[in-house]
Amino acid sequence: MFMGEREAPATRVAALMEDPSLAGGILCMDLLALVENWRAIARANPAAETAAVVKADAYGLGMGPVAKALAKAGCRTFFVALPGEGAALKSLLPTARVFVLSGLPRGEAGFFQHHELMPVLNSAEEVEEWADFCRQNELRLPAAVHVDTGMNRLGLRPEEARRLAGRADLLRRFRLELLMSHLACADEPGHEMNMRQRGMFEEIRALFPDAPASLANSAASLAWPEWEYDLLRPGIALYGGNPFADRPNPMRAVVTLYGTILQVREVKRGETVGYGATWRAPRDSRIAILGLGYADGLFRSISGSAGGPAHVYIAGQFAPYVGRISMDLTAVDVSHIPPESLARGQRAEVMGPHVSVDELARWAGTIAYEILTSLGSRFTRLYTPTGE
Ligand SMILES: *Cc1c(COP(=O)(O)O)cnc(C)c1O
Repeated sequence: MFMGEREAPATRVAALMEDPSLAGGILCMDLLALVENWRAIARANPAAETAAVVKADAYGLGMGPVAKALAKAGCRTFFVALPGEGAALKSLLPTARVFVLSGLPRGEAGFFQHHELMPVLNSAEEVEEWADFCRQNELRLPAAVHVDTGMNRLGLRPEEARRLAGRADLLRRFRLELLMSHLACADEPGHEMNMRQRGMFEEIRALFPDAPASLANSAASLAWPEWEYDLLRPGIALYGGNPFADRPNPMRAVVTLYGTILQVREVKRGETVGYGATWRAPRDSRIAILGLGYADGLFRSISGSAGGPAHVYIAGQFAPYVGRISMDLTAVDVSHIPPESLARGQRAEVMGPHVSVDELARWAGTIAYEILTSLGSRFTRLYTPTGE
């Protein structure tokens, strides 16, 4: 059995797909589509710099290959969530500018300095601590300041930001590399919250006229080019997820997930399939058992007990999930597919060109972000290079 991570050109991927030694699921990442998605956002916002959000292992796709492909395409600035993610990224891309969104953990300023990471300072206390560290070390280190304009998650409250604007003593200690805020409802561009948050951000930004500014995630980068400010922070759109909740996906698909048929079996009318015997064959049926399950991030909630609308794509046809998804196994109904076009070892598309990540997310009762960041660790991962 082979598991692991490799780069392979598209032609080789096709050959690898036939390789029976690749048991289990195969996760293909199209790095050219990733780069094209990044470029599409950059092109739509020519006056600003386009960064990339690569937190949570690049939304589950693999931070190393993703960040390297984007850097090669010209991306210079990256956002991660945690200091450890930042350190890992800097070891791959020493010259990248890296912001750490979850902020400065108490007493960890030295770690940031050592790895040349920039904290996103999320509270007055974090600002004080960073300024203090800079004073003690006689260094004017860069950091971002996050102002909360309505999300109520992280960031200085507007009144705290106003107070900070009057604290010349603090502000001269460090370099304010970025003033940022984050939108709660950008995936619904018509939501009134967006205008409210933008108005608040404009007000605060006027108090820090020299600081570069950033407000836009993926959706905002595409919905309002005039909100680009100095830096864009797209995440999900790079990875092919639909940044919008209420309109078609403008991005290219990046991820394709294949399951492998372990066996095709006959099920007599009235027999049941899987744990809990939740699906009963309404007629004599043929079932394909795929070698992946919820341990691989295939949400158990995808399989409705009645064999709902969720499906995979095999031999040019859709095949609905039947019964419960198990840890390592999943059953689909292939009664309508000619048996001669099904074989042990054949791949079934679980997600990809025919089954979008957003569709899969809808069936699971979640969002593309959660599907991607839940992708399992035991897939064979194939990265199709950018070809550059
Ligand atoms: C995750 C994140 C982003 C990226 O959001 P997408 O919706 O994936 O584009 C941008 N900014 C902040 C602060 C984030 O936490």
